[in-house]
Amino acid sequence: MQHAMEKVKRPRIAVIGAGIIGLPTAVMLTKIFYKLEVTLIAEEFSPHITSDIAGAIIRPVVDNSEVGSRDSRRDQWTKVTFQHLYSLFLSPLAKTLDISLVSTYDMYKGEREDPWWKDYVLGFRHVGEEEMKVLQYHAGKNCWAYSTFTMISGSYLTWQMEQFKAIGGVVVQRRLESLKEIDGTYDIIVNCTGLGSRQLVNDPEVYPVRGQAIVVKAPWIKTVFAEETEDGILTYVFPRADSVVLGGTADAGNWSTQVDPLVSKAIMERCCMYIPGLSTAEVVKEMVGLRPGRSKVRLEVDETTLKKSTVVHNYGHGGLGVTFFWGCALDAVKLVEHCLIQKGFTVNSKL
Ligand SMILES: Cc1cc2nc3c(=O)[nH]c(=O)nc-3n(C[C@H](O)[C@H](O)[C@H](O)COP(=O)(O)OP(=O)(O)OC[C@H]3O[C@@H](n4cnc5c(N)ncnc54)[C@H](O)[C@@H]3O)c2cc1C
Repeated sequence: MQHAMEKVKRPRIAVIGAGIIGLPTAVMLTKIFYKLEVTLIAEEFSPHITSDIAGAIIRPVVDNSEVGSRDSRRDQWTKVTFQHLYSLFLSPLAKTLDISLVSTYDMYKGEREDPWWKDYVLGFRHVGEEEMKVLQYHAGKNCWAYSTFTMISGSYLTWQMEQFKAIGGVVVQRRLESLKEIDGTYDIIVNCTGLGSRQLVNDPEVYPVRGQAIVVKAPWIKTVFAEETEDGILTYVFPRADSVVLGGTADAGNWSTQVDPLVSKAIMERCCMYIPGLSTAEVVKEMVGLRPGRSKVRLEVDETTLKKSTVVHNYGHGGLGVTFFWGCALDAVKLVEHCLIQKGFTVNSKL
């Protein structure tokens, strides 16, 4: 679309944060708008960030806040992300990006309403009694089955970084103590700092949700097995292109990034209850990540924090950053477009 207002200079945008939320947002901005200067600023990059620790499956696994419940925005983010990954899965890029379409068994006790995301995965169904017997699941359990994607976030982020640089994006490694340090240097600042937003924009609503997992070599496993009990105990087996991730934990408020050997032992025991043969799998690594917990994702324009630059926030995705990322990037880009028009720039976009 073309808008009448004119300014000669090119709009300058900074995206802060190079995780699964920030980097795709930066790439989308650079690709969708003509004549935009986009700078990506981050303290750390893949493979040293939370996004690298994610399982990662397109399905809400950890849901200890409102972030995982249904609303029209979350519906849209999930749907758009699923479609994005599906198109990549069909393309020749899938091999490099390590995106796998996997069948999933998702167990639970007692009765549960169907999940809000059931229409965005493929072939959602309730597993019948006979199949439960074959699966050898314990009495009293129920199960959903469907197909969805697992991915290796690091592979995807490596590709996105190549894209970003190839289309003229500028990358700066820098830790910001405050957004005021770059107020006025950029017309718009897109804040995608995840857990870092707690300090960077002084948001006490952001908190860590610690997750520990084990990566094993188990190439015979091609199916996801997952269970999330009412008291919050997570057990999951996520096959990815090159490995299988066993999990997990979700400890709200815990800042420790040290692997706890007792927790690893408990994870292995729980996963072996479903697939005993996993006990023979070679352990590649144990890992810990801090999910950016928040009561809800903050994806909005903020005109008050800074004097000169406008801020667009995109953070607080909890255990769902990989499930939401492409949909959130698209919404963030629309907000940036709106802000540019407000500031009187000519906006030539492909939106
Ligand atoms: C064990 C585990 C399993 C998970 N599994 C799944 C899953 O299966 N499916 C799913 O959807 N999600 C999953 N998640 C959640 C997902 O990983 C997160 O929601 C997502 O990674 C958040 O991405 P982000 O880009 O916001 O944060 P990050 O990946 O943490 O990136 C933040 C970026 O901001 C930068 N930054 C922060 N502060 C500053 C600062 N002050 N100055 C400059 N730069 C700064 C960082 O350096 C980094 O580049 C899982 C998480 C964990 C821990």
